[in-house]
Order: sequence, then C-alpha cells, then structure tokens
Amino acid sequence: MVDQTGVTVVYGGFAQPEVKGWCPGLFAPMQAADGWLVRVRPMLGRLEATQAFVLADVAQKQGNGRISLTNRASLQLRGFGADAARRFPDIAVAAGLGLPDAEMERRQAMLVSPLAGDDPNCAPDTVACAESLRNALLGAKALSDLPGKFGFAVDGGGLYAHGLLQADIILRGVGEGGWSVVCGSVCTAPTPFATAVRQAVGLAEAYVTSHQGVRPQRDPAVGAVLFQLMGLEGQALALPPRPTQGAGECVGPLGHGLFALSAPMGCMTATMLHECACVAASLGDGVLRLTPWHTIVLGGMARPPVVAGMVAEPGSPLLRIWACSGAGACAQAAGETEELARQLAELLPDGASLHVSGCRKGCAHPAKTDFTLVAGAQGYGLVRNGAAMGNVESLFADEQAVYRAFESFKHEGAVDAGL
Ligand code: SF4
Repeated sequence: MVDQTGVTVVYGGFAQPEVKGWCPGLFAPMQAADGWLVRVRPMLGRLEATQAFVLADVAQKQGNGRISLTNRASLQLRGFGADAARRFPDIAVAAGLGLPDAEMERRQAMLVSPLAGDDPNCAPDTVACAESLRNALLGAKALSDLPGKFGFAVDGGGLYAHGLLQADIILRGVGEGGWSVVCGSVCTAPTPFATAVRQAVGLAEAYVTSHQGVRPQRDPAVGAVLFQLMGLEGQALALPPRPTQGAGECVGPLGHGLFALSAPMGCMTATMLHECACVAASLGDGVLRLTPWHTIVLGGMARPPVVAGMVAEPGSPLLRIWACSGAGACAQAAGETEELARQLAELLPDGASLHVSGCRKGCAHPAKTDFTLVAGAQGYGLVRNGAAMGNVESLFADEQAVYRAFESFKHEGAVDAGL
C-alpha cells in the first residue's frame, strides 16, 4: 500500500522478537551471531585504569575487539569463542572485576550514582549506603532467586539528578542523611541508610516469596503490593521534574575536575577503552566512572582529555542516537543498525532523537524517541514519537530510501517533521 507522498505504508513484516528474560553476566555468557558475549559490572561503576587495560587486552585478543557500554553501566565484550568465554570469569576475578562465587556475584549487582564522592551535590553518604546495600545483598541468600533483570540502585542525586537511575528498588538520598526507599509507585519516609537498606532487602525478599510475576519497574503497582506484604508504611512517589537535557548529553567538563566522554550508542573498541585508560592514568586520578548513559567520566583532569571516537561536544547529534548491535551480531536482527544511525545523525532536525533497532524488541532504548526505525523483512519501518513496539507509520524498502526521507525531514525542519 502507498500513501499520498509515495511512501509505502506498512503493517506487517516485523517478526515478534524472542524474549530471553535474562541478561548476560560474568558467569552467564550469552551466544550471539558474532560469537559469545561476556559482561562485567565493575563495583560501584568504577573501573581502575589497570582493570581497563586488562579488559581492552582481552577484548582485542580473545574477542572481536567490540565493547558495549550498557544501560546498566556494565561493559560487554563481544565475539568470544566458547573456550575463551569459559575462561573469562577467571581473568575478570583475578583483576578484581567480580567475585568467584557466581551467586554472590549476581546478587551484588546494582547501579550507583556515577559521581558519588566526586560531586558535592550528590548525597555525601552515597558510597557508604551503596557499600552497606552490597554487603546486605551478599548476605541475603534468598535473593539468589530474584530474576536476572531485577535491579537495585543507590541514587544520591546531584548533577545526575534524582530519578535518572532506574531500577526495581531504589535507595534515594534526600538530604541531611535521610534515605527513602522507592519501589514502583511508592516510597518510604526518609530514614538513616542502615534502616533503608534493611527495608530494601525486605522488599526484595517479599518479591521472591510472593512470586510476583512482574517487576516493580515494569508495573509500578507491584511496589504497593510489596509494601503491604512487608507491613511497611509508604507514600505515593512524587515524580521528579523532567530534566531538560538527557544525562547522556552531559559531556565535556562537568566541574570539579570531572570530564565526561560519550561512546556513541554505547559502542567502543578495545582501542578506545585502552586510550581512555591511558588518559585516566596519565592525566587524571586513574578511575573510569561508567554511567548507564553511554558516558565515561574521568576525574582529576587538569585539561580536557581527547580520545579518538569518544564525543566531548555537548551539542553533537551523536549524543541523541541509539542502536542495537544489529545484523551480523544479533540473530534476531533483520537489518544493519549502528552505521545507519551514525550516518543519519547528521540528518536529524535540531534536537531530535533517533533509535535504529534490529527488531521490535528495541533492546538499545526501550523509551520513546522522535524517530524510531525498526528493521523488518520488508525494509525499515518508521515509528514517530514512539518506541520500537510502536505504530509503524511508513516503510522504507532499503537504506537509500531511509536517507532520502531523513534528508527531507532535515530540510523541513523539526516543526514540519512533527516534533
Ligand atoms: S533489538 Fe536488536 S539486539 Fe535486541 S533482539 Fe532485536 S535485533 Fe537483537
């Protein structure tokens, strides 16, 4: 079917994606079209330069040199053979990048405000709270039964404002040593963090024993159910004000000697990681702070760091694009994604965002963007102001047709493009 502008309008050709329901972890490599992928989640999101050198070396020699910075602030190394994937946990544990016990390693997973201890506006006890939560999770064996995607976060606010870190259970530092536990649509009154940690673990245990099918992050009403099961008094969560700028667009100097570099779409090479580590070690404090927004923050910088391939210009359109690994890397992908997104970035109307997804699952960016392209059997479908599962308004038979359409969007400008 063809619409008045000559564009084929589509309604099919987008296969239902397979949902695995788990994420790869240190002891759970995942097979992909380009080999096995392995993942590490550095403690508190901090990677020492020496650890980064180890990962860059392993990625280059045993993988295909491609590294992803994930939206859980993990590093994912791609293209491993089966034997190399099996050996990887030993290398990571020896480098201090994981625990030897697989269950404990899985239980300690959490997101922490990336600038805790560096940003004076981040709650001063954020690191102490995160360490307390980590110890409690390590001791709570029952939480080994949590689903792999269930997550905790410790959100001290500050430059990366409250609400940016997403998880099923969040400890939020709300000032003067008070911590509130957020779960779905409810939260506790502020308490000292030791109490908040006990409440957070109790809520997670209630989730396990009550066999809830859906996580609070997916269905906020589950939070109220867990509060009730625990006999915990909760109050409705006030939504934090919507930030005017995405956290991933905070690049360049952040103040206090901090400097953020973005890996567009979370894609890095082993060389880029090695270079970041060299800069951190030679010019800064030797620490790479990983964020869930595709950036790495370096501290103690006397002058701006430069790393080829990493973006440091706040206005760059490369900060507003997302893509999954696409054809050749994921068996479910029906088309190329990363390079297409990179090429289209220059054609985006000012301020517009773009997501190119290999299938309807939309792994790279579950939220809406102005333009979402989804690869399917008949070409690329376009969803406006929606996510990869949204309504496909137009179909482009190939990449050339996509370029032509985006050239016209650029020409028309944001207003005419419907933004
Ligand atoms: S969104 Fe991309 S990475 Fe995720 S399953 Fe689909 S093709 Fe694979």
